[in-house]
Amino acid sequence: MNLQRIKELIAQDNLVKFYQCKEWYGKNGIRNQALERDNYECQECKRQGKVSPAQNVHHIKEVKTHPELALVLSNVESVCINCHNKEHKRLEKYIRKKKPKFVNEERW
Ligand SMILES: [Zn+2]
Ligand SMILES: [Zn+2]
Repeated sequence: MNLQRIKELIAQDNLVKFYQCKEWYGKNGIRNQALERDNYECQECKRQGKVSPAQNVHHIKEVKTHPELALVLSNVESVCINCHNKEHKRLEKYIRKKKPKFVNEERW
């Protein structure tokens, strides 16, 4: 998976393929690196003084708008499902005017 390929997937609205690739989802992929770095704890809950297990890894700068940061460890953080949903609802409100439908492929 390289930047060119990621851009193609964005153009085809098929980012789910990105989230299934070994560079993201594999044993040594960015997703697992982020979870290990973050101790498998939700970073958003941590900021609020709570401890929750993280199930998802979220792109701080979205893949769709920043494909060059899709596989950059400093652009991702571990979050629990609750915080992930909240974060995407917030983003959805922000982009609703431009895009009628928002799909959260990171659930993969
Ligand atoms: Zn959380
Ligand atoms: Zn996310």
